Amino acid sequence: MSRDKRYDSLFEPLAIGPVTTKNRFYQVPHCNGGGYRDPSAVAEMRRVKAEGGWGVVFTEQVELHHTSEITPYIELRIWDDDDMPALSKMADSIHEYDALAGIELTYSGVNGPNLYTREVPMSASAMPVRTFFKDPVHARQMDKKDIKNLRRWHRNGCIRARDAGYDLICLYGAHGFGVIQHFLSTATNHRTDEYGGSLENRSRLMAELLSECKDAVGDTCAITVRLSLDEMVNGLGFSNSEVRDVIGMHSELPDLWDLAHGAWEDCSGPSRFKEEDAQHSLVDGIRDLTSKPIVGVGRFTSPDLMVKQIRSGHLDLIGCARPSIAEPFLPNKIDSGNVEDIRECIGCNICITGDMTMSISRCTQNPSFMEEWRRGWHPEKYTKTKDTQSVLIVGAGPAGLEAARVLGERGYQVVLAEASDELGGRVSKERHLPGLSAWGRVADYRTYQLSQMSNVEIYKKSKLDVEQVLEFGADHVAIATGSVWRKDGVARHHLFPMEISGDIGIFTPDDIMSGHRPTGEIVIYDDDHYYMAGVIAELLCNSDTHVTLVTPSPFVSEWTINTLEQATIHQKLAGLGVNLVLNRSVERIDSNGVTTACTYTGTEASISADNVVLVTTQAPQDGLWKALQGVENQVQERAIQSMQVIGDALSPAPIAWATFAGHRYGRELGQADIGDALPFKREVVKPT
Ligand code: ADP
Ligand code: SF4
Repeated sequence: MSRDKRYDSLFEPLAIGPVTTKNRFYQVPHCNGGGYRDPSAVAEMRRVKAEGGWGVVFTEQVELHHTSEITPYIELRIWDDDDMPALSKMADSIHEYDALAGIELTYSGVNGPNLYTREVPMSASAMPVRTFFKDPVHARQMDKKDIKNLRRWHRNGCIRARDAGYDLICLYGAHGFGVIQHFLSTATNHRTDEYGGSLENRSRLMAELLSECKDAVGDTCAITVRLSLDEMVNGLGFSNSEVRDVIGMHSELPDLWDLAHGAWEDCSGPSRFKEEDAQHSLVDGIRDLTSKPIVGVGRFTSPDLMVKQIRSGHLDLIGCARPSIAEPFLPNKIDSGNVEDIRECIGCNICITGDMTMSISRCTQNPSFMEEWRRGWHPEKYTKTKDTQSVLIVGAGPAGLEAARVLGERGYQVVLAEASDELGGRVSKERHLPGLSAWGRVADYRTYQLSQMSNVEIYKKSKLDVEQVLEFGADHVAIATGSVWRKDGVARHHLFPMEISGDIGIFTPDDIMSGHRPTGEIVIYDDDHYYMAGVIAELLCNSDTHVTLVTPSPFVSEWTINTLEQATIHQKLAGLGVNLVLNRSVERIDSNGVTTACTYTGTEASISADNVVLVTTQAPQDGLWKALQGVENQVQERAIQSMQVIGDALSPAPIAWATFAGHRYGRELGQADIGDALPFKREVVKPT
């Protein structure tokens, strides 16, 4: 197939200062939880994106100088020559496929607590550092000598970046994370000298850095700047109109303006709260203020919407972070006319949790993300099986669907049996909850892929029992039967079933997703701490109900701090009139309602309720798996060579864990047993 002509403008080259991108696909900087700890894993991840057709591929934020760093978060560094091999490897990897390599230099200023280097943080003005952990550390105000030093460090950083092979150098002044923004913003710049006060003064540092970096390396590298499109903190900040004024004032200074909405939480808003192209109005008209190219983001996954951005002159380049994670081959798939094969980002922000938990990022849609080097998983290439063995997969949730897809790619004869009349398992239900419709893409992408494979058969309305599995006679069996929500309150607070008595309605998320709707006074008890309780509160809140959400945590939906949506969830529920009761467990339930206890003091109180929804924990639905284990002799008699339980049926977790489990099963079936060996590569620091 070939490219649909209407997408041609996405493939037009564009000059950015002294370099030229071959197309308009611009992978903006994004974290990955690997950074300096896993440089080869990061380099390979970026290489795969270059292979997938991105014209520009950026690093994550790269800490410019040791006087400003964001430990415990793991990014890249360009502190001295010791960092050069990792950075060069990344640039070389990106260049393998004719893409431009970009590096984002960051001086974290008031965002850097310097927990690792123990340097005293410096920023535009003296104030406590502004970090996710609210570290009890202050940044001191930079004096003129400090600013002079900062300018020299930027020049040196640029020279190192150029020598490491980078084509574009971006100075980071967005998301509240870069010193340029700290100077631009009236929230963080309280100076009275020529670097504070008027917008001209507040933008002085940005202008100096841009022109000096251009002087240093501008003949070979494009110098760009990434700015927040609006940052408002208690009436102070750097507003959208000021962004426009700054761009008007310095319109030709950078080689490109890179525009990103407000705080990281705004820019990377989840699909639950933000549509595709959410920052459209904030960018509108900026194109007319400069002759330099502009790039913006918007969780763009639709080629039609992308091309509209370019043709209307709204943007010159399509900036993507999450869409490039979920689909590293997005440009190539558009180019080759395979738009239906695009694995669209679902906007769940699980990728961000890898950075927030300093682990390593994963993607719900693309389980090979950050496993390209560690496990050798290429998102588009699979080891073909030598003998066409058959595999029976029981359960078509995210785990079963992904296992079937990967095994189908590998050439196995796959049969996927699903009890219900719908594919997708939990996703087929959760996609109907408020704000979660985009999550349905997990099922839609896989269902379409499977429909294209002649070696995969799917049977719906086929709830299999032990006899049927044995009779089927497959060479391999995977059990992916998922999990159910518990109805007894067991989770983190109650390690054994809660005391429940009397005549009161008790519901679980499964009941709600099956269409049951409690009425009247409703208490939702959240000892799960991810999205489910908040989503159910949103769903049940109406004029006939009064909803109270009780949680032992100090935060509503606490784990969503890692998906950057916790504050929005709290605001949303409070706005809907949900009564939020924090730091309290539900101790007992009786016909009058619930008895709660303070997590710290144990002091009890009661809340009257007609119905209670327990969002506590999920239990594996592993009856079939256990029964099969009980008939091992028959399994052997039927010559079943392997049996495995995967996904939530083994151990419940977010959807990304299930697609990973299905993917891993699909990749590893028939591969040599590695025994006790580590199943992935890693880089261990060698002591000097
Ligand atoms: P996971 O997240 O691990 O993929 P899900 O709960 O999303 O798990 O999906 C499990 C799927 O398995 C559900 O669609 C469910 O209907 C199906 N299922 C459960 N038991 C059986 C069975 N015995 N036979 C066929 N399908 C089953
Ligand atoms: Fe998109 Fe979710 Fe993948 Fe992140 S983890 S890229 S938000 S699908």
